[in-house]
Amino acid sequence: MSDDFYNRVRTTLDEIEAGGLTKPERVIASRQGAEIMVNGKAVLNFCANNYLGLGGDARVSEAAAKAARDFGAGMASVRFICGTHTLHKELEAAIAGYLGYEDAILFPAAFDANGGLFEPLLDEKDAIISDSLNHASIIDGVRLCKAKRYRFSNGDMTALEDNLKQARADGVRSIVIATDGVFSMDGHIADLGAITVLADKYDAMVMVDDCHATGFLGPQGRGSAAFRAVEGRIDFLSGTFGKALGGAMGGFVCAKKEVVALLRQRARPYLFSNALAPSVCGAALEAIRIAQSAEGDTLRAKLIDNAARFRAGMTAAKFDLVPGEHPIVPVMLGEARLAQTMAAQLLDEGIYVIGFSFPVVPKGLARIRTQLSAGHSVEQVDRAVAAFTKVRDRLENTK
Ligand SMILES: *Cc1c(COP(=O)(O)O)cnc(C)c1O
Repeated sequence: MSDDFYNRVRTTLDEIEAGGLTKPERVIASRQGAEIMVNGKAVLNFCANNYLGLGGDARVSEAAAKAARDFGAGMASVRFICGTHTLHKELEAAIAGYLGYEDAILFPAAFDANGGLFEPLLDEKDAIISDSLNHASIIDGVRLCKAKRYRFSNGDMTALEDNLKQARADGVRSIVIATDGVFSMDGHIADLGAITVLADKYDAMVMVDDCHATGFLGPQGRGSAAFRAVEGRIDFLSGTFGKALGGAMGGFVCAKKEVVALLRQRARPYLFSNALAPSVCGAALEAIRIAQSAEGDTLRAKLIDNAARFRAGMTAAKFDLVPGEHPIVPVMLGEARLAQTMAAQLLDEGIYVIGFSFPVVPKGLARIRTQLSAGHSVEQVDRAVAAFTKVRDRLENTK
């Protein structure tokens, strides 16, 4: 019996490997940053979500260490028993204040925020309309909820309007449109202007997952709604402290206070999972402080400059990029093998990037997704462009 099971597991692993789809994990032996240690060698990192460079920042790690020294490793409790600490209240107030919401609720991760958000708020009388490229955690959260499901192809506002009409024709009660603020594989920023206009027209609410936006996109880094000038129009905003805001971990939902109050009573990943560690809260609080300060503006300006410089250099070198204005810069290669080989050779040249292929992106659209950081120097950005060009030219000459 169990022999069958283990054979099946091994067969699946073999199939993944045979398809060239195994995701090996390279081991990093330094702190996160523009330059990291891999296999005993210093390389430049161009694939972290470390947009503001705060992941390895000494002040952020000291804030984490201080919170751990003052308050210990953890609460050994969920929030409602004996796990709610002053740090949690401070962090919820800080993120809600930063992003302009009445209240916020913390989750162990943004994955859990999206997993726990929908089910308590909506039931079979309601509808969720979801963008086809939404993050896996939104897809899972929608699956866990009894609401009727509608889906539109990525960014297709005509299809979204068709969904809205259909949901109204189906007689649903409340409608929530759910979308990533930024689609992580392409770096596309959702058209929240058009989405909120349609939401108004059909009396729908809007949920945005701003994991790839909070802290650096738009004025003061307030995210995709600020970037699209529709702040105050997003009903439910989920995000992470695991990317630009310090890179540790932890997720949140910002919303009206009665929504947050209901989530505290009913959201399962909140009710049934340990409270965030003091060190995690300390790091996030310091990262939010920096992101909101004048230094945050300097970091965001540097990030924009680095992304523009990399795009210009790669375009001049005739690479096929997904156009856009986000620090996610996908270098399109087509074949999964080519993306893998190129990423491996780039590591030999001192540039740490990863090839993305099916099922993370559609078949035939394999790519190396690069991500710029405020922590990169101009010289490092130029070195990356030079290494990409060198490896590409070498691969073409040996074809
Ligand atoms: C990274 C990411 C998540 C998950 O965030 P965690 O806090 O790491 O769980 C969710 N949604 C989107 C769009 C993301 O990019």
